[in-house]
Amino acid sequence: KLFNELQELKGNIRVFCRVRPFLPGQGAPNTVVEYVGEDGELVVTNPTRPGKDGLRKFRFNKVYSPAATQAEVFTDIKPLVRSVLDGFNVCIFAYGQTGSGKTYTMTGPDGASEEDWGVNYRALNDLFKISQSRKGNINYEVGVQMVEIYNEQVLDLLSDDSSQKKYPFVSRILSTTSQNGLAVPDASMYPVTSTSDVITLMDVGLQNRSVGATAMNERSSRSHSIVTVHVRGKDMKTGSVLYGNLHLVDLAGSERVDRSEVKGDRLREAQHINKSLSSLGDVIFSLASKSSHIPYRNSKLTQLLQSSLGGQAKTLMFVQLNPDAISYSESMSTLKFAERVS
Ligand code: ADP
Ligand code: MG
Repeated sequence: KLFNELQELKGNIRVFCRVRPFLPGQGAPNTVVEYVGEDGELVVTNPTRPGKDGLRKFRFNKVYSPAATQAEVFTDIKPLVRSVLDGFNVCIFAYGQTGSGKTYTMTGPDGASEEDWGVNYRALNDLFKISQSRKGNINYEVGVQMVEIYNEQVLDLLSDDSSQKKYPFVSRILSTTSQNGLAVPDASMYPVTSTSDVITLMDVGLQNRSVGATAMNERSSRSHSIVTVHVRGKDMKTGSVLYGNLHLVDLAGSERVDRSEVKGDRLREAQHINKSLSSLGDVIFSLASKSSHIPYRNSKLTQLLQSSLGGQAKTLMFVQLNPDAISYSESMSTLKFAERVS
């Protein structure tokens, strides 16, 4: 119900803001973010201007306090995830500076138990559950791709070549020439029938993702990772077929780098990240403001997701914040990005 209401108000774009808790061992908590409440309000204080002058208010479709659990977050997005089984295309993004909880929201902490699972596992788990319950009426096939965009290049994280792993459950590649078109036609796609298939695949993907990382330069914060879930449903009475897909996107860190301090590879990475995040912002902004020209072609990220951004597709952006005073200026730029697209 929440989603239908929001959809009427805002088209198909929603912004949920999640503030992560202070982590143990990080010193005395000094927060600049006040979670206000159910109505989606958030107040941020400028640490150098305490008092009323330094206050800024933001309002989003939803704001989560640091105490919000993974289960609570998923409950709110369940209707959106399930709409994929009815043939909708859905994109869920996590945006924010490195360390703000993007991966926590999308995947969960390292070695997460079921309780700590992020959106990725919960979404697939739920899709399996619902598709099972419709079996006989509508029969579903589910396939998963996982790619990374690094320096405007798309890399297949589930490619057999770059990984020594064998996938015991891969018996066939899902036949999907969906009317929506495959997001990444050349990237490997594996059929999955259970959450444990998904966990195995994602482990492979995550491992491949970190291969390129050097000690100083954690790859995962410099690249976007996209898990795409393709769903094909066949109505057993009428024989008609529907396609839906769900893109789960853990974006590169949005932090600004100081141009005077970095050069070479690091500068190039930063420029690519900058460009693709601002292109994403431009696309969502153009969609929200019903512009006649949507600038999809300015980055690989928006090109890849084109068929799932705009039109009937639904978009959800998790805007992640680190509550610490040290992060004030990054938090403000994150919030300004979010404000523009919401
Ligand atoms: P990012 O992907 O944005 O760089 P991470 O998801 O890796 O950030 O989060 C940084 C750290 O904060 C990790 O140790 C993560 O487990 C922890 N963390 C993030 N969000 C939460 C949360 N909601 N609850 C508990 N720990 C969190
Ligand atoms: Mg991360």
